[in-house]
Amino acid sequence: MKIAAVHTHILDHLLDTAFESASMRFTRRQHCLVEVVCDDGTVGWGECLGPAKLNAAVVDAYASALIGQDPLQTERIWLELYNLLRDQGQRGLTVTALSGIDIALWDIKGKRFDAPVSTLLGGRFRDSVRAYATGSFRREGVDRVKDIAKEVADYRHEGFHAVKIKIGFDVEEDLRVIAAVREAIGPELRLMIDANHGYDYLEAIEVGKRAAEYDVDWFEEPVLPEQISTYRAVRDGQPIPVAGGETWHGRYAMLEPLATRAVDIVQPDICGVGGFTEIRRVADMAAMHGVRLVPHVWGTAICLAASLQFMAALLPNPPRRDPIEPILEFDRTENPFRQAVVTTPIEHVGGVVAIPDAPGLGIDVNRDALAKFALKES
Ligand SMILES: [Mg+2]
Repeated sequence: MKIAAVHTHILDHLLDTAFESASMRFTRRQHCLVEVVCDDGTVGWGECLGPAKLNAAVVDAYASALIGQDPLQTERIWLELYNLLRDQGQRGLTVTALSGIDIALWDIKGKRFDAPVSTLLGGRFRDSVRAYATGSFRREGVDRVKDIAKEVADYRHEGFHAVKIKIGFDVEEDLRVIAAVREAIGPELRLMIDANHGYDYLEAIEVGKRAAEYDVDWFEEPVLPEQISTYRAVRDGQPIPVAGGETWHGRYAMLEPLATRAVDIVQPDICGVGGFTEIRRVADMAAMHGVRLVPHVWGTAICLAASLQFMAALLPNPPRRDPIEPILEFDRTENPFRQAVVTTPIEHVGGVVAIPDAPGLGIDVNRDALAKFALKES
C-alpha cells in the first residue's frame, strides 16, 4: 500500500449573521479537509485547524514528500514532514497542516486493519461522551446580554450539562453576561468562560475574582497564549481554574505550560496539535504533570470524529473506579457543512454523543456536500 495522491478541500459558507470572539470576527465559515488516496483505492480523511487556504497551501507543500510512502508508517511520516519545516515551523500552520495529514493516515490505518482508530490506540475506555455546548459569541445589532441568555437557555432545554460562553471584550459587560447566563441555566448546569486571550493580566484577575460567585468551571485563554508566565500569574491571582492550549501546537509548545503548571486544564486540538500521533504524547505529558485534559474541538464532523476516537482511548485519569470522564466540545454556531460532510451526522442526544465504531474515523464522507460547499474563488 502506497500513497498515490493528496488532495485538499476548502469548504466555505457565507454566514447569515457575523459573530465574533475577542480575537476574531467570523463572516464566513471555512475549513480545510485533507484527503489521502492510496494506490489500492483506500482513502483517508483529515482536517486542519485554522485558516483554510493557508493550511491547504502547506498540505500541498508536504504532498510531494508523501507520494509513494507507506501510509501505515505514521511515526516515520510525522517526523519526516516535521523535519522538513522544523527550522522555520515548530508550531502554527506547519503543525496544523501536518495534523490533517496525520489524521488521514490514521483513518487509512483503521480501514486497513478493519478497526476504529480507538482500537489501534489501545482500545476503548468509553463508547460515548457528554458534550458541552460552545456558542454565545458576540453578535451585532442585538442586546448581547439578552441574546446570550436566550441562547444558553436553549442549550439547557436540549439537554446539555454544560455551556461555554465568550467573554474577553468589556469587563463590566462580560460580567453582566456571566450573571445573566447563570440565571438562565440555573444552578445545576456547568458554566465555562472563554476570553480568547482578550484581556490583559489585570483585567483577567478582576474578571476571575468577580465571576467566581457564578460557579465557573474554568476560565479559558484569559491572556495571550505566548505569555506562559502570565497564565501562571492569573492562576495565582484569582480562584477559577485556568484552561488553555488550542494554540499550543506540537509537544514542545505544550512542554512549558504543562511542566510549570501554567494551566489547570490543557486543551489540545487534534486538528492543530499534530494529529493522533502527537496528541497521544501531549495526553501522556498532561497526565504526568497532573493537568486535566479537555480537547478543543472546532470544525466539521471529521474533526469531531477524530476527537471522539482519541477521547474513546484516553486513559482514565486519575485511574480510580469512577474516573473523571472527558467532555466533548460541541460547537453550536452556524455552519451548514459541519455535519453535511458525512453521511451520518455526529449529533448529540440529550447532551451525549456516541463514538462511532466503524473502521478508521468511523465516518463516510459525503462528496456531494464537498462539491456543494467547495470554495468558489471569484
Ligand atoms: Mg477557546
